[in-house]
Amino acid sequence: MQVLVIGAGVVGLAVARGASRAGHDVVVAEATSGIGNGVSSRNSEVIHGGMYYPEGSLRAIHCIRGRRLLYDYCAAHGVHHRKCGKLIVATTGAEAEKIAAIQRHGVANGVEGLELIGGNAARSLEPALSCVAAVWSPETGIIDSHGLMLALQGDLEDRGGMIAFDTAIERLEPTAGGWSVHFGGKDAGILEVDAVVNSAGLGAQGLARATAGYPAARVPRRILAKGNYFGYARRPVFSRLIYPAPVDGGLGIHVTLDLAGRMRFGPDVEWIDHEAYEVDPRRADEFYARIRTYWPDLPDGSLVPDYSGIRPKLSGPGEPAADFLIDGPAGHGLPRLVHLFGIESPGLTSSLSIADEVIRQLAE
Ligand SMILES: Cc1cc2nc3c(=O)[nH]c(=O)nc-3n(C[C@H](O)[C@H](O)[C@H](O)COP(=O)(O)OP(=O)(O)OC[C@H]3O[C@@H](n4cnc5c(N)ncnc54)[C@H](O)[C@@H]3O)c2cc1C
Repeated sequence: MQVLVIGAGVVGLAVARGASRAGHDVVVAEATSGIGNGVSSRNSEVIHGGMYYPEGSLRAIHCIRGRRLLYDYCAAHGVHHRKCGKLIVATTGAEAEKIAAIQRHGVANGVEGLELIGGNAARSLEPALSCVAAVWSPETGIIDSHGLMLALQGDLEDRGGMIAFDTAIERLEPTAGGWSVHFGGKDAGILEVDAVVNSAGLGAQGLARATAGYPAARVPRRILAKGNYFGYARRPVFSRLIYPAPVDGGLGIHVTLDLAGRMRFGPDVEWIDHEAYEVDPRRADEFYARIRTYWPDLPDGSLVPDYSGIRPKLSGPGEPAADFLIDGPAGHGLPRLVHLFGIESPGLTSSLSIADEVIRQLAE
C-alpha cells in the first residue's frame, strides 16, 4: 500500500518506520519544517515503567510493550539512553498508602522489578531525599528523544520512505481505492494514497473533522493541559528520577534528569484553552512548595523558568484519565484510515508499540 502518515512526531515517525518495514510505500507529511517540532520535543524524555495506568488499558499495554521495544531499539541503533531507575516517594502516611497501591497495581500490570522500600532505604540511594517510603522502579529510564526520532527517520529513509516538510494536510476524502489528500503549503495540491494515518498530535481532532465520511460525533474533545518545567541552576543532587505521589492530571512535579545529568523539575498541570508555551515565572512559588515536600533543602533562587509542553488530553480536570484512542476501520467503518487521539504520556515510551497496532489496524 501507499501509506500517508500525517505528523513527524515520535509516534508518526514510529508508524512510518514500521509501515516501511512491513513493505509499504510511505510518505510522511509534516506541517512544520522539521521532525519533532510538536509535543515530542516538549516532554520529560522518560522511558516509563507502566505502573500508573489501569490494568488492560491501552496506556498500560503500549507503555510496557513499547518500553521493552524501545530499549532494544536504542541498543540496536545507538540511541543515547540510560536506565537510571526511578523512586516514587511518599512524604506522609496517606501518600505511603497511595504509592503502595501503585506498586501493587504495577505488578498486576506486569511491570518488572518494582519494590516498596522504607524511607531509610530510599535515602541510602538518594541522601538528599525526605520521605517515609518509596517505590523503586529499576526499569524506568531516560532517552535522547531527538536522537530516537532521527534514528526512526533514518530507518524510514533507508527503506525508501520520505518526509514532506512544510506540508500541512487540510482535508481527506475517500475514493474508490483509498484516500484523496488535500495539502497546503507553497506547492499545495492533492495526493492519492491507499491508506492514511492521522498522527497529528494536537492537530488530530482538526484533521478528523476534515475527514469526509468520518462522523463528527466520533471526534473526541481536545483538552489541553500545559506542563511547565523549571531548570535547576546548580549542581545536581539526585542521580535517579524522583517522583512524588501523582496528582490530578499529571504525575506530580518530579525531578527529571537529562543525559548530561542536569536536573529539571516539572511538569505541573495548567489547564488552558489555547496553545501557548511561555512559562510564567510566578509558578515557581508552587514549584518550591511542592519540591520541598520531598527535598526540603532546595535552595531559594535556584529554579529558573525552562520550557513547557502541552498534553493532548481527552479528559478534563477531576475526570478519570482517558485512555489513548486509536480509531481504525473496525471502529469507524472507513477502510485504511487510522486516527490517533489523546496520545499524551506515555506516548514517547509507547511509540513503537502503538506503531505495530496502527499497522495491524490498517490491514483490517
Ligand atoms: C509535558 C509533557 C511531558 C511528557 N513526558 C513524557 C515522558 O516523559 N515519557 C513519555 O513516554 N511521554 C511523555 N509525554 C508524551 C509524549 O511526549 C507524547 O505522547 C508524544 O510526543 C506524542 O507524539 P506524537 O507524534 O503523537 O505528537 P507530536 O510530537 O505533537 O507530533 C505531531 C506532528 O503533527 C504535525 N501536524 C499537526 N497537524 C498537522 C497537519 N494538519 N498536517 C501535517 N502535520 C501536522 C505537528 O507539526 C507535529 O510535528 C509527555 C508529554 C507532555 C506534554
